[in-house]
Amino acid sequence: MEAWTRVPEVATPRLMGAVFGVFYALGGVAGLCVVQAAGGAAAGGVLTTLALICLGAVVAGLATVALRDRLTTRTLHAVVASGTATITTGVLLAPDATSALLFAALLTFIAVDCAVFFSTAAGLVHFGTSVVAGTAALSARGDLDGWEAAALGVVLAGVAGVVAVVAKRASSASRDSLTGLPNRRGLDAALERSVRTAERTGEPLSVALLDLDGFKAVNDASGHAAGDELLRTTAATWRAALPEEAVLARLGGDEFAVVLPGGSSGALVELLAPLVGDRRAPASAGVAETRWLEGPADVLRRADMALYEVKRSGRGRCAVAGEDAATEGEAALVEDLARALRAGGLEVHYQPLYDAAPAGAAGVPRAVEALVRWHHPQHGPVSPTVFVPLAESRGLVTELGALVLERACRELMSLPPELRSDLRLSVNVSGLELVRPGYLRGVSDVLERTGWPVSRLVLEVTESVVEADAPQALATLREARALGLLISVDDFGTGYSALSRLDEVPATYLKLDCSFTATVHTSPQRARLVRAVTALSRTLDLAVVAEGVESAEQAQVLVELGCTLLQGYHLGRPEPLEALARRLVAGTAAPATAPRQGDPATAGSPVEAADV
Ligand code: C2E
Ligand code: MG
Ligand code: MG
Repeated sequence: MEAWTRVPEVATPRLMGAVFGVFYALGGVAGLCVVQAAGGAAAGGVLTTLALICLGAVVAGLATVALRDRLTTRTLHAVVASGTATITTGVLLAPDATSALLFAALLTFIAVDCAVFFSTAAGLVHFGTSVVAGTAALSARGDLDGWEAAALGVVLAGVAGVVAVVAKRASSASRDSLTGLPNRRGLDAALERSVRTAERTGEPLSVALLDLDGFKAVNDASGHAAGDELLRTTAATWRAALPEEAVLARLGGDEFAVVLPGGSSGALVELLAPLVGDRRAPASAGVAETRWLEGPADVLRRADMALYEVKRSGRGRCAVAGEDAATEGEAALVEDLARALRAGGLEVHYQPLYDAAPAGAAGVPRAVEALVRWHHPQHGPVSPTVFVPLAESRGLVTELGALVLERACRELMSLPPELRSDLRLSVNVSGLELVRPGYLRGVSDVLERTGWPVSRLVLEVTESVVEADAPQALATLREARALGLLISVDDFGTGYSALSRLDEVPATYLKLDCSFTATVHTSPQRARLVRAVTALSRTLDLAVVAEGVESAEQAQVLVELGCTLLQGYHLGRPEPLEALARRLVAGTAAPATAPRQGDPATAGSPVEAADV
């Protein structure tokens, strides 16, 4: 039944108005040619009437084109019906048999309209009416007998049938076969159209990206058939709940998109709230409203970021991109940060990571973590825990990440080769950078420009990125690993991700959050937990890094519990390049048990590197 009543995607009033109008006007012009050719052969009065009808058709056609933005589906049905009536009148008034046939030939236009723009049912009604009316008029004149009328009907049906099949084939390329919804290609086309209309009319346009929560669990637990069924029923439920003018598309997997022409982000959130809250298929949604002169890719990217934020902070709800208005102080800080970024006014400090194994305690850092530093002209040093989240929510984090990566690679390459030949560089990467197209190309470009080897660059992503189950972020990480980069999962233990989730991330390092380190030597329960994590990590081929190591006692316990690398104030604070260079020189020269030079945390303290 649905196949009979489904209106083709191309059937937008705007396009239909343009095509119908052009056909109408061309029909009028063709009719005027026929009248002109028939010249002296007919009575002047009839010819004048015909000429006026044709002229009227030209004017009506041009008006339909001009008014195409205001047409409704109902008016378009009326346009086609009046086309049939006009052609039939032309046939009846035609001065001779040839002219009448030429008028009847205009029914081809009606046939094409029906084949391309209407549902099969409506198209058949219009087409049938036009063929019956046209051939009946010809027969009534005595110009055609029954067989000749049938021949004309066959020609027209042939044209309509072939055009309909070709049009359906062409449009199925933009349909998702599982749900029957438009696919990504269909969405792109619909969004492109809607953005253009919104620009012209000034009406709002909102877009949402939706992702089913826990879809993977359904697939894993109940099989792919159950997963497919869930997608189908969800698609049908959502489609029925959304207004007709909204476009619902399936982008792949459990990802959907909604385009709401003429609707604000608030209106779209209202529409989506009951859908994402449906306990049979809960979902998360990110909504964005187009801004002035913003293209389809930009608005989708903002919706994607909003979705990412929702998933990161608890799922099962809708969030609007960039909605939370900044306080005045925040806004000023963001402006200052943007200025500092443009001027390259941020610095990078390096914190060493040491091998935890006693044999590795030779005083040479195995790796360094690049940590961004901002010295505000008025406020002094601002913590990255303040400005990195601001950069994330205000669209500056890509620039920030690029600056840190480039500077760190360049600075480390400026060290003598013997000091850096085995050193790994870890950079913190925001999840928002990972979902941005072209992120890895940017990283490769930096590596090429600076000469830092790909195999010694570690991308550090927080556990929340893994937990968010953002397919694009995970895909970028897999691609990064395939390129030879290393991955580290930072702040592990702060979220709720099960260790088993880590098999989806091609990580080399797992960084235990500082909160574990802080109590590992005082809480036997914590110690047992860390031991379990290190044991499981070994089976997953993950090296466990303990961060936030502030004392020799903690370091010792962490080594015993199976951590592979240690990082923390006890071993070395984040420091500028010159201090790192001194540390590397001292480490290379020092015997295994020498205290670490240049380590402010241990300066003047009795703790020695051998404690590690
Ligand atoms: P993180 O990646 O977990 O970095 C470790 C943080 O712990 C750093 O804070 C470091 O200075 C601090 N730390 C290191 N050892 C100790 C210790 O023994 N005790 C204590 N209490 N803290 C220690 P920082 O530099 O303030 O950075 C905070 C967070 O900001 C980082 O956490 C990271 O998530 C983010 N961040 C820093 N630089 C960047 C960057 O370039 N890009 C991005 N996206 N995020 C960055
Ligand atoms: Mg880190
Ligand atoms: Mg960390």
